[in-house]
Amino acid sequence: MSRNGTGFWGETWQTARAVAAAMTITLKNLFRKPVTVHYPDVVRPYPDRLRGILALIYDETGEEACIGCRLCEYVCPPQVIKVEMLKGEKRNYAKTFTLELYACEFCELCVQVCPTDAIIMLKTFDLATSDRREMLLDKDRLHALGKQFENSWATGTKLREMQAPPKTAKAEAKE
Ligand code: SF4
Ligand code: SF4
Repeated sequence: MSRNGTGFWGETWQTARAVAAAMTITLKNLFRKPVTVHYPDVVRPYPDRLRGILALIYDETGEEACIGCRLCEYVCPPQVIKVEMLKGEKRNYAKTFTLELYACEFCELCVQVCPTDAIIMLKTFDLATSDRREMLLDKDRLHALGKQFENSWATGTKLREMQAPPKTAKAEAKE
């Protein structure tokens, strides 16, 4: 007799039930459609609100939107952005702009503070590489990425609007 008092036949019955339950699950999964896809040949659609790798964009006139103000550089927690400003007659530009994507935290603070919506996140993470140096993005690469992939919905302007208190709250605060 076993210690819990079920006996030989009791234990045999329990084992048979456990094996039957396990085999049922195995058989069910054997004919189930696979949930994996053959990435990168097959890419799953990303969620609408995905915010992935960073890029720089052009404004509606076709000029670089970045004015080299360096706000993104100051706010970046791991300090992976470096910008040099180039002063122009009508507006300023980024003379150089580098972003060490391999050390980026994807916190989005740089996007939130950008006054011209020049730096944005893309609706993709597809930048895998075995060479870390390819993740050191310069200004040209960042602009090229902005053209290559779909931009996320979030710009600095939209994100700041979301953080502003509702109008009623503002009015109450004044009273
Ligand atoms: S997402 Fe965050 S960590 Fe990455 S570059 Fe922008 S501010 Fe820096
Ligand atoms: S990306 Fe935006 S915040 Fe950064 S330097 Fe350019 S204009 Fe300024």
